[in-house]
Amino acid sequence: MPSLADIASCIAGYDPTALPVAQAQAFIARLVSPVQATQGLPIRTALGRVLAHDVVSPISVPAHDNSAMDGYALRGSDLLADAPTALDVVRTGLAGHAAAGEVLAGQCVRIMTGAAMPPGLDTVVPQEFTEAAEGKVTIPPGIVRSGDNRRLAGEDLAAGEIALHAGRLLRPADIGMLASLGLAEVTVRRKLRVAFFSTGDELCDVGEPLEAGCVYDSNRYTLWAMLQRLNVEVLDLGLVRDDPAALEAAFLHAAKHADAVITSGGVSVGEADHTKQVMARLGDVLFWRVAMRPGRPMAIGRIDSAGRSAVLFGLPGNPVAVMVTFYAFVRDALMRMGGCAVQPMPMLRAATTRALRKKPGRTEYQRGIVSRGADGNWQVAVTGSQGSGILRSMSEANGLVVLQHEQGDVDAGEQVDVIPFDGLV
Ligand code: AMP
Ligand code: MG
Repeated sequence: MPSLADIASCIAGYDPTALPVAQAQAFIARLVSPVQATQGLPIRTALGRVLAHDVVSPISVPAHDNSAMDGYALRGSDLLADAPTALDVVRTGLAGHAAAGEVLAGQCVRIMTGAAMPPGLDTVVPQEFTEAAEGKVTIPPGIVRSGDNRRLAGEDLAAGEIALHAGRLLRPADIGMLASLGLAEVTVRRKLRVAFFSTGDELCDVGEPLEAGCVYDSNRYTLWAMLQRLNVEVLDLGLVRDDPAALEAAFLHAAKHADAVITSGGVSVGEADHTKQVMARLGDVLFWRVAMRPGRPMAIGRIDSAGRSAVLFGLPGNPVAVMVTFYAFVRDALMRMGGCAVQPMPMLRAATTRALRKKPGRTEYQRGIVSRGADGNWQVAVTGSQGSGILRSMSEANGLVVLQHEQGDVDAGEQVDVIPFDGLV
């Protein structure tokens, strides 16, 4: 396991007090490693899980040459080039039945889509191009060529080929694919265990009356929800007061039972509370100021307990900053730890409906509403209040506008990057 200092020495120009987002991401990618344990699961239960090994196809798909159309299977060499071809229909081939015996020259077989091609026949003429009468079928010239409308065995996948690669997050098509290979079970990585808690004396839990000077703890709820989407096992350690003994107990419990620990609050520069001190005491932890908005202060590292260590993500306290830093850093890291071959979040380019002020030298994440403009192209309107504590701006939005590190002010109508919140699920 590399130390944090080793990782920092690999990052050119590493400066923890002004760390570009891309460098912070590269750092975290080096910090984390995948869990090794695996488990076998029925394929339906494996939806959303990460494949532990390559899946090699035990069969060819399709297993036999078969018809792509309802029509007549024939021998291409029987087709006449400039005159109608008349063939004797000797039987019917239905899908799901093994192809029966030999068909002679001048004969054909009535065939249905998906039925195995009878031996020796290589072409299918769709029935709508033919005329059938008294046990014969007539095919006009030039309608089909030899080999048309036939699906070849192994066209989709050949036996022995890798059907799905290790590290794949299994989606609905993959579950169907595994079924098409006849596999009832698949081996996946074990689920990641992620502990999380909120810190701060000003926090009240839902369902309780709001005390003077307090706010409800929303971060634990957004974190829980974002973690659900990542299909990890969650361990909610609740609200932890600004008390060294309580914080220490929470961190030690988290590191003993989980692969990762996520906290929110208490990591700002000049923060008077105990969170940072306890983090630093219990592990190898760096306190960053990331060049981004929202979400500057962050703690990253490892917390040790009972001979194990868990990766620590100490996120800022502000509710929008929690979400933005989660998507910018935690999501990919947890996917990597889960053994997943991480794909970047899909982005689209949209024209901003109004001018945006932006300082070069930091990445800004603004909340936006993406829609189709009158011209049919994507446009994005940033939501009213962009303060990092204003969760409503996030809730109203359907995408995050990402103004990249080097970018300056943006004029109305200019294209910007947007990460949409919704997609196929
Ligand atoms: P901090 O990073 O601890 O200074 O917190 C920054 C801001 O976020 C403060 O206004 C906190 O009240 C607020 N905050 C911190 N934790 C939470 C939480 N769990 N839920 C809602 N707001 C929070
Ligand atoms: Mg605080």
